[in-house]
Amino acid sequence: MAKRCERLGTSAAARSALRDAEAVLFDCDGVLWRGEAAIPGAAEALGRLAGAGKQLCYVTNNSSRTRQAYVEKLQRLGFPPAETRQVFGSAYCAARYLSHALPAGGAAYVLGGAALSAELEAVGVAHLGAGPAPEPGSANFGSRAPLDPSVRAVLVGYDEHFSYGKLCLALRYLMRDGCLLVGTNRDNRLPLEGGSAVPGTGCLVKAVETAAEREAFIIGKPSRYIFECVGKEFNIDPARTIMVGDRLDTDILMGNNCGLTTLLTLTGVSTLEEVKGHLESDCPERKNLVPDYYVDSIADLLPILQD
Ligand code: PLP
Ligand code: CA
Repeated sequence: MAKRCERLGTSAAARSALRDAEAVLFDCDGVLWRGEAAIPGAAEALGRLAGAGKQLCYVTNNSSRTRQAYVEKLQRLGFPPAETRQVFGSAYCAARYLSHALPAGGAAYVLGGAALSAELEAVGVAHLGAGPAPEPGSANFGSRAPLDPSVRAVLVGYDEHFSYGKLCLALRYLMRDGCLLVGTNRDNRLPLEGGSAVPGTGCLVKAVETAAEREAFIIGKPSRYIFECVGKEFNIDPARTIMVGDRLDTDILMGNNCGLTTLLTLTGVSTLEEVKGHLESDCPERKNLVPDYYVDSIADLLPILQD
């Protein structure tokens, strides 16, 4: 049935979709919190869902934090206690992917920070390159640094030290036969309070793809891979699973592509105006960006669950 972006709570069908769900997957930034501030009422709503026996999972494209950091943030902001196995961050899922995809003895050249490095170490993936890069003019600058023969993949994540030298090294590895190219996510912008934004990891992935003249395998939403990680950890039925997100092009698209019920919350990036544009468009692909339901905030789930 075509998705119509109906307000959750207005029809009996919408209310029973929430009540009958066995699992609820939450995007984090823009849904549970914005920066360090919890969305008012969000923690209570999740407490109610957990109390009703629903399996809660956290699915985030942010590769700059470990799963453990998410567990701690959930606790700090008053959300129900969570275990690391409930958190599916693109850093952890990328590490998991490489632990299977790399040949024995293979290592990854990483454009990323401490979190990506920690998640790779936790699953035993050998890696190099994370953190600051050698300065231009130094012997180990990317255009002339010796190549490590064990590198069989380039992994691109959120990297505050991204540089021309790193891009050079990434290209030199990718020009070798059989070197994999993996990106944590394609978010183009990260919104800041007050309407400002900073470039997201998608910009860095694009730079490497442009140099290498090929497409990266993407781990995060809207890729199915991150949902497959959830499915490997928990026995969940897509038909009884809700994906809650604030972005149509990542959260909602992934949920729709994976057969989940999708719920847009208006506390983050995407707007009802954008949904309207997709609904009115003749382009079939844009229909995949329309959620089943929307709420102004996930605090609106509370009265529905109390009825
Ligand atoms: N990537 C980075 C580096 C971020 O800081 C964030 C949000 O804080 C995201 C991606 C988007 O994360 P989410 O999928 O939880 O909205
Ligand atoms: Ca988000």
